Amino acid sequence: MNIIHHLPPNIANQIAAGEVIQRPASAVKELLENAVDAGATEIQLVVVDAGKSLLQVIDNGRGMSEVDARNCFGRHATSKIKAIDDLFHIRTMGFRGEALASVAAVSQVLLRTKREEDELGTEVEIENSHVLRQDPCQSSTGTSISMKNLFFNVPARRNFLKADAVEMKHITEEFMRVALSFPQVYFSLHSNGKELFHLDAGTLKQRIVQLMGSSYASKLVQVNEKTDYLTINGFIGKPETAKKTRGDQFLFVNNRFIRNPYLNHAVVSAFEEMIPSGCFPFFVLFLDMDPSQVDVNVHPTKQEIKFTDEKIVYAFVRSAIRHALAQFSVAPSMDFGLDASIQQLDAVAKPFTADKQQEAIAGSLYKSFVDRHQAHRIETGSNLRNWKDFFDPTGSSSTSGSSEVGGSFNFAEPAMQSAQPTTSASVYKPSSSAQPLPGAIVFQQNLTYIVTSSDHSVLIYHQQLLHQQVLFEKFKATWEGKAIPVQQSMFPQAIQLSPADAQLLQGILPDLLQMGYPLEPFGSNAFLLQGSPADHVSENDAAVIEMILEDVKDIGSTLHRSYKERMAKTLARKHAIKAGKTLTVEEMRDLLERISCCENPVMHFDGKPLLVEVKGSFLSDAFQV
Ligand code: ADP
Ligand code: MG
Repeated sequence: MNIIHHLPPNIANQIAAGEVIQRPASAVKELLENAVDAGATEIQLVVVDAGKSLLQVIDNGRGMSEVDARNCFGRHATSKIKAIDDLFHIRTMGFRGEALASVAAVSQVLLRTKREEDELGTEVEIENSHVLRQDPCQSSTGTSISMKNLFFNVPARRNFLKADAVEMKHITEEFMRVALSFPQVYFSLHSNGKELFHLDAGTLKQRIVQLMGSSYASKLVQVNEKTDYLTINGFIGKPETAKKTRGDQFLFVNNRFIRNPYLNHAVVSAFEEMIPSGCFPFFVLFLDMDPSQVDVNVHPTKQEIKFTDEKIVYAFVRSAIRHALAQFSVAPSMDFGLDASIQQLDAVAKPFTADKQQEAIAGSLYKSFVDRHQAHRIETGSNLRNWKDFFDPTGSSSTSGSSEVGGSFNFAEPAMQSAQPTTSASVYKPSSSAQPLPGAIVFQQNLTYIVTSSDHSVLIYHQQLLHQQVLFEKFKATWEGKAIPVQQSMFPQAIQLSPADAQLLQGILPDLLQMGYPLEPFGSNAFLLQGSPADHVSENDAAVIEMILEDVKDIGSTLHRSYKERMAKTLARKHAIKAGKTLTVEEMRDLLERISCCENPVMHFDGKPLLVEVKGSFLSDAFQV
């Protein structure tokens, strides 16, 4: 018996659709690009329930004929290429003729379209790749495509979709990418009846400011370099726009958004020394090159790309950015957007004449900077490479192990590697019953360790790790129990985010409130932080929020098991006292009491020991008695 048969076209289409449409955002990309390809100057995107119920794109492009309106849903149906050679000169965003076929395979579609020259438009309804009906209709010139109930016929895929906040973040990202590539086109985005974006046609700079917020207007540096081989243009953010989150980085090649860690690195490395490590600069950059130097055979929905010579591109990008940054820093008074009141100060406004220079050099202020034996005088040629370490109590900017530093600057947390038990460390490994004795003497050693005793041993805790563990367990318990009380701030702090991050934050507002962070929406993509967890000190609550956002992105979904744990860890790390802080005896006793009540009183959540225990038996061995 023969067992091979042909799949019916609707099943084949459903399978093929899996490659093109993974989630609502991928359909958004395809539909927006089709509208751009159709020459539209106005494009509206409407979504309901993060695209799960409805995704609609309305454009004023050239529209389709009655026959094309049916045929566009066929597989490999395209008006954009005819022969393989066309691939090498392709100027449109799409070209494979797969998007609409996929859309029609996995959602209920209503297409309405009309060309300029036609009196009436046409309306097509499609489900499971079958045309249910087609009728003439009244319509303005252009096309509207609605996709309802995405994956209604592929429940496994539908269940796979993430929470609305996460899907909406992906949609916003795709929307931003297309909107950035085509600033000359008007775009709007409505979600559940609310207008999230209204982007008038304009220049790239105007588009960036519309998307990122008006605070960016004075923080952008233009990049513009041309060679025969390739050109680059766009904007980078001044170093002060660098954020802990990696989100706001847009790189386009021949107007197509790409993800390329290698080239992103070229940009970031051009900023070296200007931004702290672990921070990422903002950029929107367009590389243009001969299409034959780029591998066009890469799947168009994938964002990876291959260059014939990646090294040249890397060097070019890096030096273009360096050049732009250098230009901006040699003209600080023009470019820094200094406050008007500062601009008018004599020191800034009046020329620095030779007389004035002499006067200044003779002054005591100048002398104090150049005299030897002054504490703040920096010897020329001294090694400043690790200067950041002094400001970074976590030691993350330094690769040197903290242990060799020794002495008073040893503020660093033990590095992960040093947590590996060495022979000597295992001698001091605490027994699981190690418990400080209530009322025993407590003192602080090296501003880092809390020393006390148990029944039979001396206990030496690391104060930072100890406090982190206490807080971690407290924050973890908070998920199940009462919210952490809020200390209202006198001066609420504004947090400006990218639209995508704002979407994400919106989705976790209740969780943040539970943890003691009341945030309220404040204009477009900004939030006001109204307070912070009572009884906790943190120098920079905005940074805490950014770190939590980064965690959520990393994990991918707030439904994930590890989400709550990650948030508790981040909060614990942020709020714990650091090594190097003087503690009173009361504070130390309080910490010891709290660790005794912890579920895990000997091990840090990262797997490091919280304390070392010098056991009585060790002492008697040491003294050979
Ligand atoms: P591709 O974009 O790769 O050609 P699609 O499946 O996305 O494939 O679209 C198929 C064809 O349908 C396009 O080539 C184009 O001719 C037509 N089309 C799709 N969307 C629009 C639109 N918004 N306006 C006019 N024509 C469109
Ligand atoms: Mg297309």
